Amino acid sequence: MNTIYLDNNATTPLAPEVLEEMFPYLKEFYGNPSSMHTFGGQLHRKVEDARIKVAQLIGAEPEEIIFTSCGTESDNTAIMSAVESLPNKRHIITTRVEHPAVLNFCKHLGRKGFRVTFLPVNNYGQLKVDELLKVIDEDTALVSIMYANNEVGVIFPIKEIAEILRERRIVFHTDSVQAVGKIPIDLKKLSVDMLSLSGHKLHAPKGVGALYVRKGTRFYPYIIGGHQEMGRRAGTENVASIIGLGKACELASKNIEEEVAYLTRLRDKLETALLKSCPDVRINGDIHSRLPNTTNLSFEYVEGEAILLRLNEYGICASSGSACTSGSLEPSHVLRAMGIPFTAIHGSIRFSLSRYNTEEEIDKVIEIMPKIINDLRLLSPFGREKRAY
Ligand code: PLP
Repeated sequence: MNTIYLDNNATTPLAPEVLEEMFPYLKEFYGNPSSMHTFGGQLHRKVEDARIKVAQLIGAEPEEIIFTSCGTESDNTAIMSAVESLPNKRHIITTRVEHPAVLNFCKHLGRKGFRVTFLPVNNYGQLKVDELLKVIDEDTALVSIMYANNEVGVIFPIKEIAEILRERRIVFHTDSVQAVGKIPIDLKKLSVDMLSLSGHKLHAPKGVGALYVRKGTRFYPYIIGGHQEMGRRAGTENVASIIGLGKACELASKNIEEEVAYLTRLRDKLETALLKSCPDVRINGDIHSRLPNTTNLSFEYVEGEAILLRLNEYGICASSGSACTSGSLEPSHVLRAMGIPFTAIHGSIRFSLSRYNTEEEIDKVIEIMPKIINDLRLLSPFGREKRAY
Protein backbone atom coordinates (compact mmCIF):
# COMPACT_ATOMS: atom_id res chain seq x y z
CA MET A 1 0.00 0.00 0.00
CA ASN A 2 1.32 3.40 -0.96
CA THR A 3 1.44 6.11 1.65
CA ILE A 4 -0.49 9.29 0.90
CA TYR A 5 1.25 11.78 3.12
CA LEU A 6 -0.98 14.76 3.93
CA ASP A 7 0.63 15.77 7.22
CA ASN A 8 3.25 18.20 5.94
CA ASN A 9 2.68 20.77 8.69
CA ALA A 10 3.96 18.11 11.10
CA THR A 11 7.03 17.41 9.00
CA THR A 12 7.96 17.18 5.32
CA PRO A 13 9.81 14.55 3.32
CA LEU A 14 13.42 15.38 2.52
CA ALA A 15 13.77 16.69 -1.04
CA PRO A 16 15.93 14.26 -3.08
CA GLU A 17 18.14 17.20 -4.15
CA VAL A 18 18.67 18.04 -0.47
CA LEU A 19 19.73 14.50 0.41
CA GLU A 20 22.13 14.41 -2.53
CA GLU A 21 23.69 17.71 -1.48
CA MET A 22 24.08 16.55 2.13
CA PHE A 23 25.45 13.08 1.48
CA PRO A 24 29.18 13.87 1.01
CA TYR A 25 29.14 15.86 4.25
CA LEU A 26 27.85 12.89 6.20
CA LYS A 27 30.32 10.50 4.62
CA GLU A 28 33.60 11.96 3.39
CA PHE A 29 33.77 15.53 4.65
CA TYR A 30 33.20 15.02 8.34
CA GLY A 31 35.60 17.73 9.51
CA ASN A 32 34.90 20.55 11.93
CA PRO A 33 34.45 23.92 10.19
CA SER A 34 36.37 25.63 13.02
CA SER A 35 39.54 23.55 12.41
CA MET A 36 42.74 25.17 11.18
CA HIS A 37 43.44 22.41 8.64
CA THR A 38 41.98 22.51 5.15
CA PHE A 39 40.01 19.28 5.64
CA GLY A 40 37.83 20.85 8.31
CA GLY A 41 38.22 24.50 7.42
CA GLN A 42 36.86 24.03 3.87
CA LEU A 43 33.46 23.32 5.41
CA HIS A 44 33.31 26.85 6.74
CA ARG A 45 32.76 28.05 3.14
CA LYS A 46 29.92 25.53 2.67
CA VAL A 47 28.18 26.74 5.84
CA GLU A 48 28.50 30.33 4.61
CA ASP A 49 27.05 29.35 1.20
CA ALA A 50 24.06 27.84 2.99
CA ARG A 51 23.66 31.03 5.01
CA ILE A 52 23.45 33.04 1.78
CA LYS A 53 20.73 30.72 0.42
CA VAL A 54 18.65 30.89 3.60
CA ALA A 55 18.98 34.69 3.62
CA GLN A 56 17.93 34.91 -0.03
CA LEU A 57 14.70 33.02 0.56
CA ILE A 58 13.48 35.60 3.10
CA GLY A 59 15.10 38.78 1.78
CA ALA A 60 17.68 38.99 4.57
CA GLU A 61 21.46 39.56 4.66
CA PRO A 62 23.58 36.44 5.35
CA GLU A 63 25.02 37.90 8.55
CA GLU A 64 21.46 38.24 9.88
CA ILE A 65 21.03 34.44 9.88
CA ILE A 66 21.99 32.30 12.90
CA PHE A 67 21.80 28.52 12.49
CA THR A 68 20.07 26.68 15.33
CA SER A 69 18.94 23.11 16.04
CA CYS A 70 15.21 23.62 15.32
CA GLY A 71 12.28 26.01 15.25
CA THR A 72 11.76 25.63 18.99
CA GLU A 73 15.32 26.72 19.74
CA SER A 74 14.94 29.72 17.41
CA ASP A 75 11.72 30.75 19.18
CA ASN A 76 13.15 30.32 22.68
CA THR A 77 16.32 32.19 21.69
CA ALA A 78 14.42 35.15 20.22
CA ILE A 79 12.20 35.57 23.27
CA MET A 80 15.06 35.13 25.74
CA SER A 81 17.27 37.52 23.80
CA ALA A 82 14.63 40.26 23.90
CA VAL A 83 14.03 39.97 27.63
CA GLU A 84 17.74 39.72 28.46
CA SER A 85 18.52 42.76 26.31
CA LEU A 86 15.86 44.89 28.01
CA PRO A 87 16.20 43.94 31.70
CA ASN A 88 13.98 46.80 32.89
CA LYS A 89 11.00 45.72 30.84
CA ARG A 90 8.83 42.87 32.14
CA HIS A 91 5.91 42.60 29.74
CA ILE A 92 5.60 40.16 26.83
CA ILE A 93 2.75 40.05 24.33
CA THR A 94 1.92 36.94 22.34
CA THR A 95 -1.26 35.18 21.14
CA ARG A 96 -3.39 32.32 22.43
CA VAL A 97 -2.82 30.30 19.27
CA GLU A 98 0.99 30.12 19.15
CA HIS A 99 2.83 26.83 18.85
CA PRO A 100 3.93 25.47 22.26
CA ALA A 101 7.50 26.56 21.37
CA VAL A 102 6.35 30.14 22.02
CA LEU A 103 3.26 29.60 24.16
CA ASN A 104 4.86 27.39 26.78
CA PHE A 105 8.06 29.43 26.86
CA CYS A 106 6.01 32.57 27.54
CA LYS A 107 4.04 30.72 30.23
CA HIS A 108 7.37 29.68 31.75
CA LEU A 109 8.50 33.31 31.82
CA GLY A 110 5.12 34.19 33.35
CA ARG A 111 5.93 31.83 36.23
CA LYS A 112 9.31 33.59 36.58
CA GLY A 113 7.60 36.92 37.19
CA PHE A 114 7.09 38.36 33.71
CA ARG A 115 3.69 39.76 32.81
CA VAL A 116 2.45 37.96 29.70
CA THR A 117 -0.55 39.02 27.61
CA PHE A 118 -2.06 36.34 25.38
CA LEU A 119 -4.05 38.05 22.62
CA PRO A 120 -7.37 36.47 21.60
CA VAL A 121 -8.42 35.55 18.06
CA ASN A 122 -11.89 35.64 16.48
CA ASN A 123 -13.97 32.67 15.26
CA TYR A 124 -11.92 32.59 12.08
CA GLY A 125 -8.65 32.36 14.00
CA GLN A 126 -7.78 35.90 12.95
CA LEU A 127 -6.09 38.45 15.18
CA LYS A 128 -7.57 41.90 15.75
CA VAL A 129 -4.78 44.44 15.53
CA ASP A 130 -6.79 46.83 17.78
CA GLU A 131 -6.42 44.33 20.61
CA LEU A 132 -2.64 44.60 20.28
CA LEU A 133 -2.78 48.40 20.45
CA LYS A 134 -4.81 48.20 23.65
CA VAL A 135 -2.26 46.12 25.55
CA ILE A 136 1.07 47.67 24.52
CA ASP A 137 2.58 49.74 27.31
CA GLU A 138 5.85 51.28 28.48
CA ASP A 139 6.88 48.00 30.05
CA THR A 140 6.52 45.90 26.85
CA ALA A 141 9.84 44.22 25.99
CA LEU A 142 8.68 42.02 23.15
CA VAL A 143 5.80 41.05 20.93
CA SER A 144 5.95 37.49 19.55
CA ILE A 145 3.23 36.68 17.01
CA MET A 146 3.32 33.79 14.58
CA TYR A 147 3.27 34.38 10.82
CA ALA A 148 1.01 31.44 10.02
CA ASN A 149 -0.77 28.99 12.26
CA ASN A 150 0.29 25.34 12.12
CA GLU A 151 -3.19 23.92 12.83
CA VAL A 152 -5.53 26.04 10.73
CA GLY A 153 -3.02 27.75 8.42
CA VAL A 154 -4.34 31.26 9.18
CA ILE A 155 -1.86 33.98 8.17
CA PHE A 156 -1.70 36.96 10.52
CA PRO A 157 -1.35 40.59 9.31
CA ILE A 158 2.37 40.63 10.06
CA LYS A 159 3.17 43.70 7.94
CA GLU A 160 0.59 45.82 9.75
CA ILE A 161 1.68 44.55 13.17
CA ALA A 162 5.36 45.15 12.34
CA GLU A 163 4.66 48.76 11.35
CA ILE A 164 2.79 49.47 14.58
CA LEU A 165 5.64 48.02 16.63
CA ARG A 166 8.37 49.76 14.65
CA GLU A 167 6.71 53.14 15.32
CA ARG A 168 6.71 52.33 19.02
CA ARG A 169 10.23 50.86 18.94
CA ILE A 170 9.09 47.54 20.39
CA VAL A 171 11.00 44.38 19.46
CA PHE A 172 8.94 42.10 17.19
CA HIS A 173 9.58 38.39 16.77
CA THR A 174 7.55 36.22 14.43
CA ASP A 175 7.51 32.43 14.51
CA SER A 176 7.50 31.76 10.76
CA VAL A 177 8.16 28.04 10.96
CA GLN A 178 5.01 27.27 8.94
CA ALA A 179 5.30 30.20 6.55
CA VAL A 180 8.90 30.09 5.29
CA GLY A 181 9.11 28.18 2.03
CA LYS A 182 5.31 28.08 1.66
CA ILE A 183 4.58 31.74 0.92
CA PRO A 184 6.88 34.54 -0.28
CA ILE A 185 8.47 36.52 2.57
CA ASP A 186 10.61 39.60 1.99
CA LEU A 187 12.18 41.01 5.12
CA LYS A 188 13.33 44.07 3.19
CA LYS A 189 9.68 45.11 3.10
CA LEU A 190 8.73 43.85 6.54
CA SER A 191 10.00 45.53 9.68
CA VAL A 192 10.31 42.36 11.73
CA ASP A 193 13.26 42.20 14.15
CA MET A 194 13.51 38.42 14.59
CA LEU A 195 12.05 35.51 12.64
CA SER A 196 12.23 31.76 13.28
CA LEU A 197 12.29 28.99 10.69
CA SER A 198 12.76 25.24 10.79
CA GLY A 199 14.38 22.88 8.26
CA HIS A 200 12.00 19.95 8.50
CA LYS A 201 8.98 22.04 7.49
CA LEU A 202 10.48 22.84 4.09
CA HIS A 203 11.98 19.56 2.89
CA ALA A 204 15.30 19.90 4.76
CA PRO A 205 16.18 17.49 7.60
CA LYS A 206 14.98 17.57 11.19
CA GLY A 207 17.36 19.03 13.76
CA VAL A 208 18.27 22.23 11.95
CA GLY A 209 16.67 25.65 12.02
CA ALA A 210 17.57 29.31 11.79
CA LEU A 211 16.87 32.57 13.51
CA TYR A 212 16.92 35.82 11.58
CA VAL A 213 18.06 38.79 13.67
CA ARG A 214 17.82 42.15 11.93
CA LYS A 215 21.06 44.13 11.87
CA GLY A 216 21.01 46.57 14.77
CA THR A 217 18.70 44.45 16.96
CA ARG A 218 20.25 43.84 20.37
CA PHE A 219 20.99 40.14 20.67
CA TYR A 220 21.79 37.96 23.63
CA PRO A 221 22.81 34.31 22.96
CA TYR A 222 20.75 31.54 24.52
CA ILE A 223 23.25 28.72 24.09
CA ILE A 224 26.54 29.86 25.50
CA GLY A 225 29.91 28.20 24.90
CA GLY A 226 32.23 28.35 21.88
CA HIS A 227 32.58 31.10 19.31
CA GLN A 228 30.44 29.49 16.56
CA GLU A 229 27.91 31.62 14.66
CA MET A 230 29.97 34.70 15.57
CA GLY A 231 29.40 34.02 19.26
CA ARG A 232 25.63 34.06 18.82
CA ARG A 233 24.97 30.33 19.09
CA ALA A 234 27.57 28.01 20.55
CA GLY A 235 28.01 24.36 19.53
CA THR A 236 29.75 22.66 16.63
CA GLU A 237 27.72 23.27 13.50
CA ASN A 238 25.43 20.52 12.16
CA VAL A 239 27.24 20.91 8.84
CA ALA A 240 25.39 18.41 6.65
CA SER A 241 21.98 19.58 7.84
CA ILE A 242 22.91 23.24 7.42
CA ILE A 243 23.97 22.46 3.85
CA GLY A 244 20.66 20.63 3.40
CA LEU A 245 18.72 23.63 4.73
CA GLY A 246 20.57 25.88 2.29
CA LYS A 247 19.62 23.62 -0.61
CA ALA A 248 15.99 23.40 0.53
CA CYS A 249 15.80 27.21 0.68
CA GLU A 250 17.30 27.47 -2.79
CA LEU A 251 14.65 25.05 -4.14
CA ALA A 252 11.86 26.96 -2.40
CA SER A 253 13.13 30.31 -3.75
CA LYS A 254 13.05 29.02 -7.32
CA ASN A 255 9.52 27.65 -7.35
CA ILE A 256 7.51 29.39 -4.66
CA GLU A 257 4.94 31.12 -6.91
CA GLU A 258 4.22 27.93 -8.89
CA GLU A 259 3.99 25.90 -5.70
CA VAL A 260 1.52 28.33 -4.12
CA ALA A 261 -0.71 27.99 -7.20
CA TYR A 262 -0.36 24.19 -7.33
CA LEU A 263 -1.04 23.65 -3.64
CA THR A 264 -3.97 26.09 -3.58
CA ARG A 265 -5.57 24.23 -6.46
CA LEU A 266 -5.18 20.78 -4.87
CA ARG A 267 -6.23 21.96 -1.40
CA ASP A 268 -9.29 23.75 -2.78
CA LYS A 269 -10.25 20.72 -4.84
CA LEU A 270 -10.12 18.53 -1.74
CA GLU A 271 -12.00 21.02 0.39
CA THR A 272 -14.76 21.70 -2.16
CA ALA A 273 -15.32 18.00 -2.78
CA LEU A 274 -15.54 17.12 0.92
CA LEU A 275 -17.89 20.01 1.68
CA LYS A 276 -20.13 18.68 -1.08
CA SER A 277 -19.97 14.97 -0.28
CA CYS A 278 -20.17 15.05 3.52
CA PRO A 279 -23.00 16.83 5.38
CA ASP A 280 -22.23 18.85 8.54
CA VAL A 281 -18.67 19.77 7.71
CA ARG A 282 -17.11 23.16 8.35
CA ILE A 283 -13.80 24.75 7.46
CA ASN A 284 -11.88 26.07 10.46
CA GLY A 285 -9.90 29.25 9.87
CA ASP A 286 -9.94 32.42 7.79
CA ILE A 287 -10.23 31.23 4.19
CA HIS A 288 -9.19 34.68 2.93
CA SER A 289 -5.81 34.60 4.64
CA ARG A 290 -4.51 31.06 4.81
CA LEU A 291 -1.48 28.97 3.88
CA PRO A 292 -2.02 27.41 0.44
CA ASN A 293 -1.29 23.88 1.66
CA THR A 294 -3.53 23.66 4.75
CA THR A 295 -7.15 22.80 5.37
CA ASN A 296 -8.66 22.13 8.77
CA LEU A 297 -12.12 20.59 8.62
CA SER A 298 -14.58 19.67 11.36
CA PHE A 299 -16.88 16.73 10.82
CA GLU A 300 -19.73 16.82 13.31
CA TYR A 301 -20.81 13.62 15.12
CA VAL A 302 -17.50 11.80 14.65
CA GLU A 303 -14.21 11.68 16.53
CA GLY A 304 -11.11 13.02 14.77
CA GLU A 305 -9.07 10.08 16.09
CA ALA A 306 -11.51 7.60 14.60
CA ILE A 307 -11.23 9.32 11.21
CA LEU A 308 -7.43 9.25 11.45
CA LEU A 309 -7.40 5.54 12.25
CA ARG A 310 -9.67 4.77 9.31
CA LEU A 311 -7.56 6.94 6.98
CA ASN A 312 -4.50 5.13 8.27
CA GLU A 313 -5.96 1.83 7.06
CA TYR A 314 -5.78 3.28 3.54
CA GLY A 315 -2.23 4.59 4.09
CA ILE A 316 -3.45 8.19 4.33
CA CYS A 317 -1.65 10.36 6.90
CA ALA A 318 -3.35 13.44 8.36
CA SER A 319 -3.69 14.82 11.86
CA SER A 320 -6.48 15.77 14.22
CA GLY A 321 -7.23 18.77 16.40
CA SER A 322 -8.39 16.74 19.34
CA ALA A 323 -6.73 14.57 21.94
CA CYS A 324 -4.05 11.93 21.92
CA THR A 325 -2.42 12.27 18.49
CA SER A 326 -0.61 15.39 19.58
CA GLY A 327 0.58 13.57 22.70
CA SER A 328 -1.77 15.63 24.85
CA LEU A 329 -5.15 14.80 26.31
CA GLU A 330 -6.45 18.31 25.74
CA PRO A 331 -8.42 19.34 22.66
CA SER A 332 -6.59 21.79 20.40
CA HIS A 333 -5.85 25.11 22.15
CA VAL A 334 -6.08 26.82 18.75
CA LEU A 335 -9.61 25.64 17.97
CA ARG A 336 -10.66 26.40 21.54
CA ALA A 337 -9.26 29.94 21.28
CA MET A 338 -11.31 30.32 18.09
CA GLY A 339 -14.47 29.42 20.00
CA ILE A 340 -15.16 26.34 17.87
CA PRO A 341 -17.86 24.20 19.56
CA PHE A 342 -16.49 21.14 21.36
CA THR A 343 -18.33 18.70 19.10
CA ALA A 344 -16.65 20.30 16.08
CA ILE A 345 -13.21 20.34 17.74
CA HIS A 346 -13.50 16.63 18.44
CA GLY A 347 -14.26 15.91 14.80
CA SER A 348 -11.52 18.08 13.33
CA ILE A 349 -8.94 16.90 10.84
CA ARG A 350 -6.02 18.75 9.30
CA PHE A 351 -4.79 17.90 5.84
CA SER A 352 -1.53 19.63 4.94
CA LEU A 353 -0.06 19.17 1.47
CA SER A 354 3.34 19.58 -0.13
CA ARG A 355 4.80 19.84 -3.64
CA TYR A 356 5.14 16.03 -3.63
CA ASN A 357 1.40 15.38 -3.44
CA THR A 358 -0.31 14.47 -6.68
CA GLU A 359 -3.79 15.02 -8.05
CA GLU A 360 -4.36 11.23 -7.96
CA GLU A 361 -3.67 11.20 -4.23
CA ILE A 362 -6.19 13.97 -3.64
CA ASP A 363 -8.76 12.11 -5.78
CA LYS A 364 -8.23 9.03 -3.66
CA VAL A 365 -8.94 10.97 -0.45
CA ILE A 366 -12.00 12.54 -2.06
CA GLU A 367 -13.23 9.04 -2.89
CA ILE A 368 -12.56 7.49 0.51
CA MET A 369 -13.55 10.20 2.99
CA PRO A 370 -17.36 10.18 2.50
CA LYS A 371 -17.39 6.44 3.12
CA ILE A 372 -15.32 6.79 6.29
CA ILE A 373 -17.50 9.60 7.63
CA ASN A 374 -20.67 7.74 6.76
CA ASP A 375 -19.52 4.51 8.45
CA LEU A 376 -18.43 6.35 11.59
CA ARG A 377 -21.66 8.32 11.80
CA LEU A 378 -23.61 5.08 11.66
CA LEU A 379 -21.85 4.09 14.87
CA SER A 380 -22.78 7.34 16.57
CA PRO A 381 -26.27 7.89 18.05
CA PHE A 382 -26.33 11.52 16.78
CA GLY A 383 -24.70 10.70 13.48
CA ARG A 384 -27.12 8.08 12.19
CA GLU A 385 -29.33 10.79 10.80
CA LYS A 386 -26.36 12.39 9.05
CA ARG A 387 -25.27 9.79 6.52
CA ALA A 388 -23.05 11.10 3.78
CA TYR A 389 -24.98 9.20 1.11
N1 PLP B 1 6.48 26.84 15.47
C1 PLP B 1 5.52 26.34 14.68
C2 PLP B 1 4.46 27.24 14.16
C3 PLP B 1 5.52 24.98 14.36
O1 PLP B 1 4.55 24.47 13.59
C4 PLP B 1 6.55 24.16 14.90
C5 PLP B 1 6.55 22.71 14.63
O2 PLP B 1 5.52 22.11 14.39
C6 PLP B 1 7.53 24.75 15.69
C7 PLP B 1 7.47 26.09 15.95
C8 PLP B 1 8.66 23.94 16.26
O3 PLP B 1 9.59 23.61 15.26
P1 PLP B 1 10.63 22.41 15.49
O4 PLP B 1 9.85 21.14 15.37
O5 PLP B 1 11.65 22.58 14.43
O6 PLP B 1 11.19 22.61 16.85
